[in-house]
Amino acid sequence: MGFRPVSSTFTSAPPLLPPRKLAGGKEFDGSYLHAAVARESDSRYKYDDNLTKATSRRDGSRSILGHFICKACNPSRSWYSGNICTELFIASNDRYRTILHAQQCRRCETYIMPEVDEGNYVQKIVSALDLWINRPERKEFPSDYRKTKPHDKERCHGCQIGVCIRQRK
Ligand SMILES: [Zn+2]
Ligand SMILES: [Zn+2]
Repeated sequence: MGFRPVSSTFTSAPPLLPPRKLAGGKEFDGSYLHAAVARESDSRYKYDDNLTKATSRRDGSRSILGHFICKACNPSRSWYSGNICTELFIASNDRYRTILHAQQCRRCETYIMPEVDEGNYVQKIVSALDLWINRPERKEFPSDYRKTKPHDKERCHGCQIGVCIRQRK
């Protein structure tokens, strides 16, 4: 997966606030999905993996479609989710960042990294960026809602730390 080399983070000026330390195995930086976002948006937006709620102009959460595979279970267990909690941060100069949240396996309670539906992710993130950055006065279209099982709030890491959109409803 296309993580940037570590050296690049040391050449830029140090941020005023410490970057958010991601909870290992429970939160995942969305930088590896940026290539798809860049393709869809003609590279209008830049990924900034130092953005936090404190340093962003606007932030919010989105529910993304996708699935999870628990390989700790034998046989492995998989499930679909229409509510993969994804935080979105937007800052000046067309910069953004996303953080994807794990869900726990119902059988063994291991936190599993989401495998997001790339098309759904790109559609939702780019439309939010377009509206928030270029046309902030407009309302975002309600996203297509696909009926899936009720959101398992107890096993969603985003719900556990209070950032999941499904928890607030
Ligand atoms: Zn499991
Ligand atoms: Zn949730």
